Amino acid sequence: MRQLTFFGASEDQQLPLEIRIRQLKIIDVGKEILGDLVQNLPKGPNHWGRCPFHQEKIPSFYLKLKDNFYICYGCNSRGGPLALPFTATEAGFLPEQFSPFSYLAEKVQLDFWKQEELEILKNELIRESQRVKHEYGFLRRFFN
Ligand SMILES: [Zn+2]
Repeated sequence: MRQLTFFGASEDQQLPLEIRIRQLKIIDVGKEILGDLVQNLPKGPNHWGRCPFHQEKIPSFYLKLKDNFYICYGCNSRGGPLALPFTATEAGFLPEQFSPFSYLAEKVQLDFWKQEELEILKNELIRESQRVKHEYGFLRRFFN
């Protein structure tokens, strides 16, 4: 069905950065950041498997699709789609040249050279950490 537009709002008008960030899905970011690890997880309301952030034999890593966060019951790593690229970087899970900032910049059309956009990203990370009830230790290291 054709989308109706009112008051001159165009269909390709960009949503505010906050909204673009909040639309990120843990399953999409998980597949891109963790690759095969998530691709191969069993399908269902939650995906689960071996944690990428610590050594384990019994899988305790879950992607909670409905709640839009990941959690490991082994090492207590936890976060939403915004945190995952930072956590995976810190854990050395990604290639050295990977930058969580560049990744997110592409994902949500963020211009991290603009101080106000970087500020929005930081605020959204804080908001996310409150939502998933987990302190993001990487915030202090990646943001000043
Ligand atoms: Zn873990």
